[in-house]
Amino acid sequence: MLAILGGGISGIAAALELLENGVSPGELLLIEAQDTLGGKIRSIEMAGKPVEAGPDAFLTRTAAATDLASKVGIGDQLVRPQSFSASIWARGRRHPSPEGLMLGVPVSVGQFVRTSAVLSPLGRLRALLDLVLPKTRLADDATISHLVRCRFGREVDEVLVDPMVGGINAGSTTVLGLRAVAPQLLDAYQKTGSSSLARSLVAIVPPRPPAGGRIIPFASFPTGLDTLVRAAEAQLEAAGVKIMKGTRAESLTNSRTGLVLQLAGTGRKKGEKIPLAGVILAVPASSAAVLLSQTARSAAAKLERIDYADVAMTVMRYPKSAFSEPPQGSGLLVPRRSRHLVTAVTFASRKWKHLELPDSELLRVSVGRFGDHRFAAMDDASLQREIAAELAEMLDLRPSPTEAATWRWKEALPQYRPFHKELVASIRNDLAGAGAVELCGAAYDGVGVPACITSGTEAARRMAARLPG
Ligand SMILES: Cc1cc2nc3c(=O)[nH]c(=O)nc-3n(C[C@H](O)[C@H](O)[C@H](O)COP(=O)(O)OP(=O)(O)OC[C@H]3O[C@@H](n4cnc5c(N)ncnc54)[C@H](O)[C@@H]3O)c2cc1C
Repeated sequence: MLAILGGGISGIAAALELLENGVSPGELLLIEAQDTLGGKIRSIEMAGKPVEAGPDAFLTRTAAATDLASKVGIGDQLVRPQSFSASIWARGRRHPSPEGLMLGVPVSVGQFVRTSAVLSPLGRLRALLDLVLPKTRLADDATISHLVRCRFGREVDEVLVDPMVGGINAGSTTVLGLRAVAPQLLDAYQKTGSSSLARSLVAIVPPRPPAGGRIIPFASFPTGLDTLVRAAEAQLEAAGVKIMKGTRAESLTNSRTGLVLQLAGTGRKKGEKIPLAGVILAVPASSAAVLLSQTARSAAAKLERIDYADVAMTVMRYPKSAFSEPPQGSGLLVPRRSRHLVTAVTFASRKWKHLELPDSELLRVSVGRFGDHRFAAMDDASLQREIAAELAEMLDLRPSPTEAATWRWKEALPQYRPFHKELVASIRNDLAGAGAVELCGAAYDGVGVPACITSGTEAARRMAARLPG
């Protein structure tokens, strides 16, 4: 029997791939602690619309997610956002996102400095120094802040790069590693002879598409992103894979005959013990550490070093009349330095055609990021009140949502520090002696949905390659 522990998108992708690699469905168990599959993918209903409490789209620059959608028969249902340009809250007002940024870094720094008021005059002058300062020496890896601040100064980092790059990970550019989180910046800077980061990036900026030809490289489903999960689950079930929901894996041990999985029991009753030929761990790193604490101690200790940010997503419905002017673009990014609770707002019913309502706007509001747990001390009602007050200030909006729902995510997003790739390689190396154990998921090979799918798929291929002919 093979088991996949964790029924998020990584575990689901691993299960589908094992079937494609000839594993018999009767030999496959998918074990998920929650009552539903999907993990961080969770669509909730508001005003009869499927609004996302987790990811609201996946990147389509790589084919992993679109391929999975096709594989489970829903490739023709994909929809793309109507807009994808968020404004930035800085210096007490909203600014349109400046043109010509790559991961928040200005590529045409001269033009950026002339046209964007998102930075203070001093901050703009400091950004120009990128063009004249000598090359920044970097070790094999560094934090994103280290490179950005050396080149453009603190303000570019805090106002642009941290909300854009750090925002994706609910992290901080002072903690996140260049090689794992923004390898494009590091590679471009190390490969070109230019001392300027902006000039180094010019070479890798994709050419401007012809007018009207711009496709926003993100997608979702009009019935909610969890359509992908439901379609995959139906396919696994139809194939005969045993899916155990509401079942927590408790420990893995090595016996003379191989691996043994212990499931959690209730009360005094111990859960079932299942002998396994192999196991794929598709759970967050802290859960993997607990599960591996008896079979692979050194891997478990290293897994514990992977930190996470906790976040909460609040979906709010406002009457259109609450806005002094209709929301523009796809949302608003709020830099950490403003000290607001809100980190980002998505104008969900503007961004997605299928979420449009005749009389209301739906907003998705994120709070919490690495090092900022203020929201955790508030109950939902107080949090929603605080959020409404901040939105009133930032969006010139009457603080009167007619509906609100908050979803809290513990261990929402892993934080890839410098040398993360080396840490992951070393964990996988330590596991080599622990039997047929593979790791996949957001903690290791990228946090986005497509990266998780690829991570699960590759773990399944490695597992299939270990199985006897
Ligand atoms: C608020 C938010 C917004 C995001 N936005 C985007 C976005 O727009 N685009 C994007 O691409 N990505 C986004 N992401 C990231 C992406 O959603 C996640 O990284 C990805 O879904 C993680 O998938 P996973 O399968 O690796 O892990 P998870 O989804 O965390 O799944 C792991 C599963 O393991 C289960 N589990 C844990 N321990 C056990 C155990 N002992 N036994 C059995 N089961 C266990 C858990 O219950 C969970 O279901 C977002 C994430 C969050 C939180």
